[in-house]
Amino acid sequence: MLGDLANRISGKREDLVSLTQDLIRFPTINPPGEAYAPCAQYIGERLASRGFSVQYIRGEDTPGDSDRYPRMNVVARREGRVPGVCVHFNSHIDVVEAGDGWSMDPFSGVVRDGRVYGRGACDMKGGLAASIIAVEAFLECVPDFPGAIEISGTVDEESGGLGGVAYLAAKGLFSKPRVNHVIIPEPLHKDRICLGHRGVWWGEVETHGSIAHGSMPFLGDCAVRHMGAFLEALEKRLYPKLATKRTEMPVVPEGARQSTLNINSIHGGQPETYEGLPSPCVPDSCRIVLDRRYLIEENLAEVKAEVVSLLEDLSKERENFRYTIKDLLEVIPTMTEKDAPVVKAVAEGIEQVLSRPAEMVISPGTYDQKHIARLGHLHDCIAYGPGLLEMAHRPDEFVVIEDMMDSAKVMAHALHGLLLAP
Ligand SMILES: [Zn+2]
Repeated sequence: MLGDLANRISGKREDLVSLTQDLIRFPTINPPGEAYAPCAQYIGERLASRGFSVQYIRGEDTPGDSDRYPRMNVVARREGRVPGVCVHFNSHIDVVEAGDGWSMDPFSGVVRDGRVYGRGACDMKGGLAASIIAVEAFLECVPDFPGAIEISGTVDEESGGLGGVAYLAAKGLFSKPRVNHVIIPEPLHKDRICLGHRGVWWGEVETHGSIAHGSMPFLGDCAVRHMGAFLEALEKRLYPKLATKRTEMPVVPEGARQSTLNINSIHGGQPETYEGLPSPCVPDSCRIVLDRRYLIEENLAEVKAEVVSLLEDLSKERENFRYTIKDLLEVIPTMTEKDAPVVKAVAEGIEQVLSRPAEMVISPGTYDQKHIARLGHLHDCIAYGPGLLEMAHRPDEFVVIEDMMDSAKVMAHALHGLLLAP
């Protein structure tokens, strides 16, 4: 049976390539959320022709949703012969902007040297195509399977997933008993299983001053200098502390196996959009956005408290130091158990298809798994798919056809294991 499945997928190489090309040709750029509806429709029509019942669910009133840019998701479900567990493959259909530096049209789906090129080839239309081919091959080999199979194409993952997986999860589409196991074909590479991700806290810190003529700065109070003092405190006191916080989570790359902090932006004084020259003013406001990634061993309250205590110290040390702090985004770290059914099934598939053990990893950044865990309360969820993470969001993004083929075989194996040998 398993050999049969693999052979059937081997025979679908051209179908897999042309499906990937077709998906790339929808320029589903986010923001603003271009071409979501036709792309969702394309996926829905293909699956409807394979016996799936298809729902189009618009993320009404989620960020960016409008009649011009509807947040259109597609969820397709095929029931088996008898009731049983449901395996769900979830892919995001949105891609980031192409950017500069391409040597070909990013939305034409060029095939060259065994690779399909294009924006989203790797992240993650190649993974979506591989999962569709895996499921189609499985249906041909095991037409009377028990349980159910779902495939979804969801939007806005690149911008937080609120109109996509979060919206659907809040409606119960990623919860038991409807769904039991979820595979998200993000590009973690064909021999790796991604169990989850670190946590995120984005905070905006603003320092306040008072405006005055720039020729007499002593009459005002410079918010940028106050921010400078805060940045220095981060350098001297927070960064060294973060470097000592190591995690048991197998995060890749290795450098992310500790707490990290990025200063995402800084702005003080007049907006830099003027033409000509600025006017001489002491800035009365300076803002930065902190992007703190935290570990499963830490908790969110502590993460915030570390920053607040630096600010409080500065309030005591510096004359007139005033600040405000605001939360922009919070994501709790998530890590699926290594012996969860979906992990075991995919690991077995990797061993069978690639003759090597699966590597268990954790992603440094987050993806839609966070919504499935927090809103869907479903913890049997992983990311597994073809493509190299390093290629995501780059010019001349590509996915290797052989990797898609291997991943499709692994996914079909896993499907077989989860539905037929639970
Ligand atoms: Zn992605």
